[in-house]
Formats: sequence, C-alpha cells, structure tokens
Amino acid sequence: MASIELSLTEEQRALRAGVLEICKRYPGEYWRDLDTRREYPEKFVSELTEAGYLAALIPQEFGGAGLGIREGGLILETINYSGGNAGACHAQMYIMGTVLRHGSEAQKREYLPKIASGALRLQAFGVTEPNSGSDTTKLQTTAIRKGDRYVVNGQKIFISRVLQSDLMLLLARTTPVDGVKRKTDGLSVFLIDIRGLKGFEVRPLRMMMNHSTNALFFDNVEIPAESLIGDEGKGFHYILDGMNAERILVASDSLGDARWFTEKAVAYSNQRVIFGRPIGANQGVQFAIAKAHIATDAAQLMRDKAAALFDGGQPCGGEANMAKYLGAEAAWEAGNACIDCHGGYGYAEEYDVERKFRECRLYKTAPVNNNLVLAYVGEHVLGMPRSY
Ligand SMILES: Cc1cc2nc3c(=O)[nH]c(=O)nc-3n(C[C@H](O)[C@H](O)[C@H](O)COP(=O)(O)OP(=O)(O)OC[C@H]3O[C@@H](n4cnc5c(N)ncnc54)[C@H](O)[C@@H]3O)c2cc1C
Repeated sequence: MASIELSLTEEQRALRAGVLEICKRYPGEYWRDLDTRREYPEKFVSELTEAGYLAALIPQEFGGAGLGIREGGLILETINYSGGNAGACHAQMYIMGTVLRHGSEAQKREYLPKIASGALRLQAFGVTEPNSGSDTTKLQTTAIRKGDRYVVNGQKIFISRVLQSDLMLLLARTTPVDGVKRKTDGLSVFLIDIRGLKGFEVRPLRMMMNHSTNALFFDNVEIPAESLIGDEGKGFHYILDGMNAERILVASDSLGDARWFTEKAVAYSNQRVIFGRPIGANQGVQFAIAKAHIATDAAQLMRDKAAALFDGGQPCGGEANMAKYLGAEAAWEAGNACIDCHGGYGYAEEYDVERKFRECRLYKTAPVNNNLVLAYVGEHVLGMPRSY
C-alpha cells in the first residue's frame, strides 16, 4: 500500500539542496531580465540538464536517474520556491513518459538516452488548437499516411518551447471522426524531429508571462512513419495516461510559487512599519497570509498523496487532479496576499512579486483549466453526470 511520508528522506533533502545550489546562481535579476526580453532561460536549463535533474524520471537503463514523481515534483517545486520558473523545463519530465510507456524499444533506445544527456531537448507538446481548445478530440490537425511517411496539415495554438526544442510530441487526427466508433479514437501521437522541418512554421506569441509560446502551422509537413508512437489511432489514450504525472508535476510548480509568495509576504509584513507598527500585526494583513499558508499545506498533502499513489503504481486520477487544482489555487491566493501586503511595491518589477504573480496565474488555466478539473472530480470521483 502506498503511504505518504511526512518528511523528506535524506536523499530527497540532498536532491533539494543540489537544486537550490544551482538556483542560487540564478537570482531574481536573471529571471527579471529574461522576462522583460521574453527570452528562454537557456543557461539555467542547460545547467539543470547537465546536472541530470531534468532526467530524474528517465529510467537508469536509458541514462536517467530513475527517480519517482515525488522527486520530480521536488525538483520543480524547489525551482519555483527559489524564485525561478520551472515552466521553462517541466514539460520534458511528463512528455517523455509517453515515449517511455508507449514507444517502441527502438524509439526508447534512440531518444531517451539523448534526452537524458541533453543531446536532444524534448520540451514541446503540441495538443491545443484554435478551434478545439479544451475539447481535444475535436482537434483538426491531420496526419495522413502516404507510404513510409505521414503528411501533416493543420494549426496549433499556445504551444510552448518549440523554438528551444529539437523534438516535439504531436497529437493529430489520423482517422476522421466519422470513421471511428468513439471520438477519442483515431487520434495518434508522434515524436517528431522539428529541426529544419519543411512546411512547418512557428510564430512566437507575446504572452502575459515569459513562456516561449507559439502558434504553429503545418503545411504538408512530411514526417517519417517511424515517428508514430505506439499504435495508430490510440494517441488520445496515450496522452491521457500521462495526465496524472503532468497534474502532479504542475501542482509542484504551484506549491513552489505558493511557498515563495508566503515567505516573501511574511518577511515584508514583519519589517514594514506603518502607523507605528509592522503591517503584519494587522489581522487584515496577517490573516490573508495565514490563509494562503493553510491552503498551501493542504495542497501539499494532496500532492504528496497523489505522488505516493502514482509511485506505488496505484490509480490516482482524482488525487492528481485535486492536487493540481489545490496547488494552483493556493499559489494564486498566496500571490494575492503577497501583492496586497507589498502595497505599491508589489507592482514594482524589482521585487519580482508581480512577475511571479503573472507566472503562477497560468496554472489555473493550463495545462488544463481548473473548471475541467472540477468537471473531472464531479464525474469520475463523485459519480455525477458528465457536464461537458
Ligand atoms: C502560456 C500558455 C502556454 C501553453 N502551452 C501549451 C503547450 O505547450 N501545449 C499545448 O498543447 N497547449 C498549451 N497551452 C494551451 C492550454 O492548455 C489551453 O489554453 C487550455 O487547455 C484551455 O484551452 P483554451 O485556451 O482553448 O480555452 P477554452 O477551451 O476555449 O476554454 C475557455 C474557458 O471556458 C471554460 N470552459 C470550456 N468548456 C467548459 C465546460 N464544459 N465547463 C466549464 N468551463 C468550460 C474553460 O475552463 C476556460 O475557462 C498553453 C496555454 C497558455 C496560456
């Protein structure tokens, strides 16, 4: 039976210390400067890769550390807790799971060791489309088999880190909806090498935060048939298989943000003196921070439960979704408490509060909107009618 550890093991503490050591070399100024220029934290991600942290979940036989999702989450949480943004590199941890679980032996041997060593980067995951949004099975990008190739046509929106990746995991329709029994069939997942791909256009989008996000256009893009992962038509199910890992890891990003906000808010409220006493002595200031702390601790318990179940090979759909929801909401609550207690300084770039505030907001929306998490819990945990 899976059980939740209430404190970190010695190995986990060492892992956290190692990540913190790297993060110390990338202070607020580093992230702020990149945020202004909307540039990728190349140096940080490279150092993290070289130290092996982004290969934490890749099994040892493929050159990774073979650690569990709890450790993967701890790495991401630590980055965000230290003031950085793990969103630049978290996707590799969950994308590679699809290759690991459903890829052929040849694909695993070809790609996983190179991803683990950093020779190849897989940080791009192409699912969302302008006309389908959260309703993934309605996506319109097609991949049609022609001999030893597939020809891809269509558009994707909000796809992150494409210009910083060598490989992308792509979800496309290989059989039209009217040719399949269930709308979840007929979608396929491909691991494609996007370097110099003919007919493939990437248009960067300037977003609220620095997230290297793009619109993608596929115009008769030819990819080798060997790019297909697993069986044709089963891609949606493969992607669903990876959702729990994604939810737990994103919850960990949020937990790191929440802790960063709370710590900053406490420190500032204790030292800022207005009306002759620290602002933190006012219940109006203190209680908001205390509530955020309570929300964060509760979110962490759920993340830890989800991670324990996941690492124990037990079903964890409900817990992983709830962890993602609670984490994103806790970070948002802590971000609001932090910006409130900082008064005008909360809006000044040099404090990093406004940057982290923008960054943490994303996880209420992506990779899945919290509304859809509620829909999942209503339907799958509580047994209520499907609401969408
Ligand atoms: C910065 C950023 C980076 C991203 N990176 C990636 C990426 O790398 N790869 C990728 O594939 N996608 C990415 N996304 C896309 C993201 O996953 C989607 O934006 C998200 O899934 C929602 O889709 P949508 O924007 O089309 O919203 P819609 O699906 O149009 O939804 C809009 C709103 O309506 C609500 N809604 C819709 N239907 C229902 C319903 N039945 N019940 C209740 N509420 C409903 C939603 O919850 C949401 O609030 C990114 C998005 C952002 C902002």
